[in-house]
Amino acid sequence: MSTLRCLLIFIVLATLGACAGKAEQCWVCQREIHPQVRTTITLEGGKSVSTCCPRCALHYGQENREPVRGIRVTDYAGGGSLPMSQAFLVEGSDEAPCMHHPPVIDPAGAPMQMCYDRCTPSLISFRGAATARAFAAEHGGTLYAPGSFPGLPPATR
Ligand SMILES: [Zn+2]
Repeated sequence: MSTLRCLLIFIVLATLGACAGKAEQCWVCQREIHPQVRTTITLEGGKSVSTCCPRCALHYGQENREPVRGIRVTDYAGGGSLPMSQAFLVEGSDEAPCMHHPPVIDPAGAPMQMCYDRCTPSLISFRGAATARAFAAEHGGTLYAPGSFPGLPPATR
């Protein structure tokens, strides 16, 4: 058997093994979905897909692969889903649940500023105004009242 063939078999087996016990992944960026920020997109054709966070769902809408009919988000404080247009949204806080790599440290030991990540600035959803305000007071970020977030796809407002 050639070395290449051996290598291919190894890769296939390794991939199968890795997939076996894996948590659910984001349909857009393939990251692990954290239950607190889980987001569901309903497409024009009626299909529903899950993403790791509202930010990813909006990316999908902007890339316009298939028109988005609705986006449902999870209440970060209490769980349960609600339409994104009815949620309070906090953008750019220091919480970024779907970025599971630790901060990058430069050779001198100082944390380096992350320039770009698909899921930043983070976008976190809340059902209640009080929990959203308390979260923004603690973690920073900009609070948007339901329906006022500028990035919402028109069809989902
Ligand atoms: Zn994602």
